Amino acid sequence: MVNYKDLGLVNTKDMFAKAVKGGYAIPAFNFNNMEQLQAIIMAAAETKSPVILQVSKGARNYANQTLLRYMAEGAVAYAKELGWEKPQICLHLDHGDSFELCKSCVDMGFSSVMIDGSSLPYDENVALTKKVCDYAHQHDVTVEGELGVLAGVEDEVASEESHYTKPEEVIDFTSKTGVDSLAISIGTSHGAYKFKPEQCTRDPKTGKLVPPPLAFDVLAEIEKKLPGFPIVLHGSSSVPQDEVDTINKFGGKLPDAVGIPEEQLRQAAKSAVCKINIDSDSRLAMTAAIRQTFAEKPGEFDPRKYLGPARDNMKKMYMHKIINVLGSDGKAC
Ligand SMILES: [Zn+2]
Repeated sequence: MVNYKDLGLVNTKDMFAKAVKGGYAIPAFNFNNMEQLQAIIMAAAETKSPVILQVSKGARNYANQTLLRYMAEGAVAYAKELGWEKPQICLHLDHGDSFELCKSCVDMGFSSVMIDGSSLPYDENVALTKKVCDYAHQHDVTVEGELGVLAGVEDEVASEESHYTKPEEVIDFTSKTGVDSLAISIGTSHGAYKFKPEQCTRDPKTGKLVPPPLAFDVLAEIEKKLPGFPIVLHGSSSVPQDEVDTINKFGGKLPDAVGIPEEQLRQAAKSAVCKINIDSDSRLAMTAAIRQTFAEKPGEFDPRKYLGPARDNMKKMYMHKIINVLGSDGKAC
């Protein structure tokens, strides 16, 4: 049994309370490897932003749970080395799909877990989420639950269609389960193809796809039912067009990739939405830099020479999100 506090990590309780009050959101960035983790920590330390390091089931399988845990512990020490005196770093399981997986993460030093029972019948989602909360809370680990279904594909989570969260269920769900935060579905979506072209309109000037707006009316109804309760948005990458263009220019093939406009995320961050999940944008930033390096320097075969620029590009993206979209800079001094 490893307690996250011994690793220098924090749970989400304080972070979320301050974020809801302050009208900003905490970035939740997924990581699978060292360069991503370095970029996240450099960006968070430089901006003094609280940060959630997310590990999906797929990342655990890819990188190994034990190694990821030590990387998170190392991240805290690294943050201090960078001059961030009191780093607020949370290690969070993204889309846990069973009690056993969540328990294993709690026992391994995670400070927060998500149990995603959103594909189950409502009563089963309640029962599973409550079981995870009962265990996690004994160890002061915070729990995120989910109501409603997001479209798109992320690791092992996939759905054809999205189903908005039903505001009439949120009071019952949160009170019966004891969750600390609630992921909702209001039109965000997993992956780099968040919307099919037929769901979008086309900008007549640029020919680019314009996605349908998020359901802010559903969010407002949920906020009315649960005033001040921490709300989470998954699938909130913006799929920056310049990164997509770089990828396509240097041999990639991502036609019609489309994300959530940053303006809408900015608006969401000011509400009870206090955690915004971003994964695809990091994948795009990394891939764009690597493709460009490979195309421009075909003789290069030292991984540091292409992973270094990838790391720089991801750091730039993370800082942009923290400062210009979520507003979490300077909140963890
Ligand atoms: Zn997700």
